[in-house]
Amino acid sequence: MPVLNPANGDVVASVRTYSETEIDEIIRKADAARHDWAAVTAKERSAILRAWFDLIILHREELAEICTRECGKPLAEARTEVDYAASFVEWYSEEAKRAYGETIPSFAVGKSIVVTKEPVGTCAAITPWNFPLAMITRKSAPALAAGCAIVIKPSEATPLSALALEALAVKAGIPTDVLRIVPSDDAPMVGKLFCTHPTVRKISFTGSTAIGKLLLEQAGSTVKRVSMELGGNAPFIVFGDADVDAAVDGAMIAKFRNAGQSCIGANRMLVQRDVHDLFVEKFVARVSALKVANGLEEGAQIGPLITDTAFKKVESLTDLALSQGASLAWGGSHHNAGAQFYTPTVLTGVAPDMDIARQEIFGPVASITSFQSEDEALRLANDTRYGLASYFYTRDIGRVARVMRELEYGMVAVNEGLLGTEVAPFGGIKESGLGREGSRHGMDEYLELKYGLIGGLGT
Ligand code: ADP
Repeated sequence: MPVLNPANGDVVASVRTYSETEIDEIIRKADAARHDWAAVTAKERSAILRAWFDLIILHREELAEICTRECGKPLAEARTEVDYAASFVEWYSEEAKRAYGETIPSFAVGKSIVVTKEPVGTCAAITPWNFPLAMITRKSAPALAAGCAIVIKPSEATPLSALALEALAVKAGIPTDVLRIVPSDDAPMVGKLFCTHPTVRKISFTGSTAIGKLLLEQAGSTVKRVSMELGGNAPFIVFGDADVDAAVDGAMIAKFRNAGQSCIGANRMLVQRDVHDLFVEKFVARVSALKVANGLEEGAQIGPLITDTAFKKVESLTDLALSQGASLAWGGSHHNAGAQFYTPTVLTGVAPDMDIARQEIFGPVASITSFQSEDEALRLANDTRYGLASYFYTRDIGRVARVMRELEYGMVAVNEGLLGTEVAPFGGIKESGLGREGSRHGMDEYLELKYGLIGGLGT
């Protein structure tokens, strides 16, 4: 399967793909190998994961370059992604030692209750292309720390980052059958196999809501554990009392990181009427100065969209919004850096019912709507089937508490434009997903509680 550089269409490399029979065999081998992996001490698993972390950091530059070549993001962002990916391995190398169970005061004399946390078993994961390194470690590190085996199908657009991480994992001492990357150009086949395979106990998926729903349905047939990190429609609210410069700084990151191709990307900017014009003016000044170029070029800030289909979706959503009455404050067209580059764009006067406000844009297009009151902002923000990330800017402490409480989202960033960290639980509510990744809660996704009742203990 060829891997294409989205910046210029060049073939970066070709990778081996796996057939259904081969993946079935890999799952069975993983299932056989997981018992030995779970049987070593947590301290030993921790040390091996730590060695993996050290190798990722050691190979930071090479990993960043692979990431940029296959997914297009600027090298500076790819380096940050390597650090983010490594942070999950470091965190779960530490958490491996802390899968504490509990004892419960007994209900009867002569009996005791012990609750332990056991690995769920063999896991299967499907990951997207927009964070090709971090999505691999965010799933595999807690699985391995918990004593599970895991088989992962990376996105067909970005298998190289995943394979590079796997090579480093083997070097670190993770048994080969316990972590396997299986590239395939037949995602529906792999999805169905993972979800219906009798030995797979858990499915973890990051990707679109539509595919997440399909996998949930398929996984129902064998009652598998599931974690789903799906689409978002993040509101980015700027209240009249906000520090407008700080809000512009935050908006640049929340909107334009990875050329807007992020599930927590600011999808709807809601700006209170009294600061609307000032915000737009300052924002456009920054957006118009963004350097659009091949991610390997020095100083590049906006890379290409991942595929031609992705480019066309961004283009048509923008054109449709303009035809429906939105105004163009900046950009609005293809960029001459290459076929899949879109000029960073700012639209104002976007109505809440326009497609661009209801769908994930997944591109460098900011859509701005103005509002009058806090109630209106909350109503607009919550009027979506998604509930992943949300952002708001204010300097009123009462409003911080109120709005944070009322936003129906799994994550709320106040006066911040970037919220991903390995130490906090990442995940969504409503149609944005199930379960959490990162933090100590991320480890529980790969652990089962076992209740043990021991009787006959005498008085
Ligand atoms: P995106 O829009 O981010 O590419 P997708 O949900 O299409 O989101 O892709 C995320 C992952 O889901 C990729 O690894 C892709 O190969 C995989 N995928 C796509 N279609 C299916 C499917 N029918 N079954 C299982 N996985 C799928």
